[in-house]
Amino acid sequence: FSHGKPVPAGKTPVPGIKRIIAVGSGKGGVGKSTTAVNIALALQAEGLRVGILDADLYGPSIPKLLGLEGQPAIRDDGIFSPHEAFGLEAMSIGSMLTKDQAVVWRGPMATSALRQLLRETAWGQLDILVIDLPPGTGDIHISLFQQAEVDGVVIVSTPQDLALIDAKKAIDMLPRFGVPILGLVENMSYFIAPDTGKRYDIFGSGGAERAAAEMGMAFLGAIPLVMSIREGSDSGHPPMAVDPAGAEADAYRAIARAI
Ligand code: ADP
Repeated sequence: FSHGKPVPAGKTPVPGIKRIIAVGSGKGGVGKSTTAVNIALALQAEGLRVGILDADLYGPSIPKLLGLEGQPAIRDDGIFSPHEAFGLEAMSIGSMLTKDQAVVWRGPMATSALRQLLRETAWGQLDILVIDLPPGTGDIHISLFQQAEVDGVVIVSTPQDLALIDAKKAIDMLPRFGVPILGLVENMSYFIAPDTGKRYDIFGSGGAERAAAEMGMAFLGAIPLVMSIREGSDSGHPPMAVDPAGAEADAYRAIARAI
């Protein structure tokens, strides 16, 4: 721990939650949060009860992605009632902040905020809680992996070498905490021109699949770069919820089934 706090002894289960899956990335902007939300919705479409926790305390984007308004309700006993969106239970530190308020968390504050969001929320009986991690590796990851049983991590990367090098660094830390790696997702994998149907491998395609093979881990699937994913995500209408029969939804569903 960089701030010298004693390491909490042992992991305690989070009441009401059967399985925790975290979604991480080597760096920001690769579509980690977008992928986390749509995987959560795809898991729900498989008949599971699913929640999502935004642990990206430095750049929370779940409220925008799910169109969450205002703060979650707080019960008389001080416990949060999670937001509900598209059938998902959702909690984000972003809901506690005013618009445009920047967060300058110091390590201990950030880890106690995470602890509160995770443990002082009245989650219903969830089959899976998806946790959207901050990019890279840091106090939040260490704190989460030490205090809760994380059943596996999905790493999201774009196909570029640089993003993949960062992704490998993030993956390297996981075995040290005994956290299983579920596999790698390649986001913004390719672009299909809507007018001609021609495929363009803008960032070079297949890099994540090769990297996954090199590291001996599963490749969970590829998601194309699609205008509707960008538009729907930025306006609180995730493609998996809006168009569950669409090609994008198929890509997310395939990943959910591979997890
Ligand atoms: P991160 O969580 O890695 O920082 P975000 O999920 O916030 O990244 O995505 C960054 C931007 O890229 C957002 O504007 C989002 O809508 C867009 N985006 C993510 N995935 C895709 C995709 N497959 N196609 C098009 N736009 C995408």
